[in-house]
Amino acid sequence: MNILFMGPPGAGKGTQAEVIVKEFGIPHISTGDAFRLAIKQGTPIGLKAKEYMDQGLLVPDDVTIGIVEERLKQPDCEKGFLLDGFPRTLSQAEALDNILSSMNRKLDHVINLKVDRNRLLARLTGRRICKNCGSTYHVIFNPPKEDGVCDKCGGELYQRSDDNEESVGTRLDEYLNKTAPLLTFYEGKGLLRQIDGEMEIGAVSQEIVSLLRG
Ligand SMILES: [Zn+2]
Repeated sequence: MNILFMGPPGAGKGTQAEVIVKEFGIPHISTGDAFRLAIKQGTPIGLKAKEYMDQGLLVPDDVTIGIVEERLKQPDCEKGFLLDGFPRTLSQAEALDNILSSMNRKLDHVINLKVDRNRLLARLTGRRICKNCGSTYHVIFNPPKEDGVCDKCGGELYQRSDDNEESVGTRLDEYLNKTAPLLTFYEGKGLLRQIDGEMEIGAVSQEIVSLLRG
């Protein structure tokens, strides 16, 4: 079962990915983890990536692709994998196709978690932090008993400046614009599965699992 997982920030991708990898006994491969592993193991491509990162430079595409390739060739991926956070561009998607076909494999499903933009904004801008003790709340998912007041210490709750609607909206639009061509690409291959990410968490998991089983 070779799965690619897509969805904007705030769609609950991380939570759902955990459920799926447990259900199907496959590794969850995020680019961040793949980088950390390659660097820790000191592979040639890992060392190359580290050079860029140590200098604060953007890691070039061919290095990122090399890291993902190395990760997909590890023995724990033989039964399948859930890839998350890669590809982000069309050229990376084509590179992924090449890697997989060189391994005589292919993607089985591309799952996209769909959540309305306004809903995402609400989720992403709902975080509140206590000025006094640092406890975090969420106005929708984990609200304090009294609006704007910390349950634990009575301190005042505030919103971090980068959690505001404008900067969150910009991050969101960047993601949506960048990944739209990818969705078209996978739709054209008949691999795209749209999942309604606005349902309750357990219902979303169930829908994904039954889709993958079916
Ligand atoms: Zn507090």
